[in-house]
Amino acid sequence: MSTAVVVGSGPNGLAAAVALARAGVQVTVLEAAGEIGGGTRSAEAILPGLIHDQCSAVHPLAVGSSFLASLDLARYGLEWRLPEIDCAHPLDDGTAGVLHRSVAETAAGLGKDGARWSRLFAGPSAGYDALSEDILGPLLRIPHHPLRLARFGIPALMPASVLAKAFAGEKAKALFGGAALHAFRPLDRPLSSSIGLGILTAGHRHGWAVAAGGSRSIAHAMAALLLDLGGKIETGVRVRSTSGLPDADVTMFDLAPTGVARILGDRLPPRIARAYRRFRYGPGAFKVDFAVEGGVPWTAEWARRAGTVHIGGSFAEIAATEREIHAGRMPQRPFVLVGQQYLADPQRSVGNVHPVWSYAHVPRGYTADATEAIIAQLERFAPGFRERIVGTAVRTTHDLAEHNPNYIGGNVVTGAKNVPQLVFGPRTTFTPYDVGVPGHFLCSAATPPGPGAHGICGAQAAARALKYLRGGAHRRSGP
Ligand SMILES: Cc1cc2nc3c(=O)[nH]c(=O)nc-3n(C[C@H](O)[C@H](O)[C@H](O)COP(=O)(O)OP(=O)(O)OC[C@H]3O[C@@H](n4cnc5c(N)ncnc54)[C@H](O)[C@@H]3O)c2cc1C
Repeated sequence: MSTAVVVGSGPNGLAAAVALARAGVQVTVLEAAGEIGGGTRSAEAILPGLIHDQCSAVHPLAVGSSFLASLDLARYGLEWRLPEIDCAHPLDDGTAGVLHRSVAETAAGLGKDGARWSRLFAGPSAGYDALSEDILGPLLRIPHHPLRLARFGIPALMPASVLAKAFAGEKAKALFGGAALHAFRPLDRPLSSSIGLGILTAGHRHGWAVAAGGSRSIAHAMAALLLDLGGKIETGVRVRSTSGLPDADVTMFDLAPTGVARILGDRLPPRIARAYRRFRYGPGAFKVDFAVEGGVPWTAEWARRAGTVHIGGSFAEIAATEREIHAGRMPQRPFVLVGQQYLADPQRSVGNVHPVWSYAHVPRGYTADATEAIIAQLERFAPGFRERIVGTAVRTTHDLAEHNPNYIGGNVVTGAKNVPQLVFGPRTTFTPYDVGVPGHFLCSAATPPGPGAHGICGAQAAARALKYLRGGAHRRSGP
């Protein structure tokens, strides 16, 4: 029987582990932290019984992931829940851009921009399940559905600031701009539309789902399946060098490229070592979880019913804040993402006290405290919020990097999403999962298709590893 070691138990590490175990490989997962899950952990951070997602919260790509669907994780307790409204982007005049599941309903709320919204999203969202075969995977390969991909891909190539010009009103511009900022990329750069278009299209098809019981349910379900398939998981084991790696036919790294370079050292071919060392990390996140009595008193009624709320004001304002953080300066009024997962999953609350998740975009490695700036932004769109706060749990960029070594400088999307890194991953190649050492593969969100708990980076890397095992090279190379 072939053997595999997976370093890291984030959603991609677990996905790789499960994909290998399903193919009959004996898999051991080594996780540095005391618990599994990486970016899919949840905890009672403030009050007993109140469940906060420690990293990822909302899962438009995971709920529609064909790989996760193929695992039938419902058998292991994974249940997706949908909020009534997927996302709202409130504005200073008390109105909001509102993302509904239905393209028509969304368009109806966007006035004269409705027709343009429909033209942009109706086709791609209707064909999303086929489209996702092409956009959720290495982008450089022969597409399964070229026409569909072209229709989605041409706008995705554009800077978000150019695409936003097609909208006349602020509601549509800001709703689109807030989604585009999930890429942590200035909105005037090429491809800055792509991640926003992807999650909006996925939302119109499958919704911005949350996992019942917290995002940890995604990791727990995959881990339970892995154990059923005979796999093993060891926590509290941080691999620092090759001497910490048990012998195995294949080794999978659910790590940032910098981490792989550190572990493999001069075993990496020099050009790959150089590429991994030069890998760029984007800005950071500053996270504040709140326990809130009675929920957030949003001025915009829509935001009270939305699972996700983007705050920061108009398209021009959020575009300017993102430029600032890229230049290493903290804006006074940062872009903040707010999660109200309890609306879809009420078991996370305790009585009338609700867990509210938030993080601000901040410069990489930002060392000051952004808590007050986040509260001020919430107050701006929800006056009276401050008085409802029962408790907070704060994670600085440094804390995030301590919590997970992949979040270098607090960069929670495992690398800057500039054009080469978004298209190719950590180095310019058609095989982004290969690290250049036979039998060793990179499976983290630094590889295509990038961040999220969809597990597809892990599944694609596992497919490469299985091809390697079937080629028999591991038997020829001997011990
Ligand atoms: C605050 C925040 C908010 C986010 N919001 C969302 C969201 O709403 N929706 C979404 O889809 N995504 C979101 N993300 C991103 C998402 O969590 C990541 O893209 C995803 O978790 C990446 O998965 P991964 O398996 O590649 O790596 P990770 O989840 O980063 O897991 C890597 C694992 O490897 C372990 N590890 C690292 N080094 C070593 C070592 N040397 N030895 C052993 N183990 C090691 C780590 O401890 C970790 O458990 C968010 C992330 C953060 C932090």
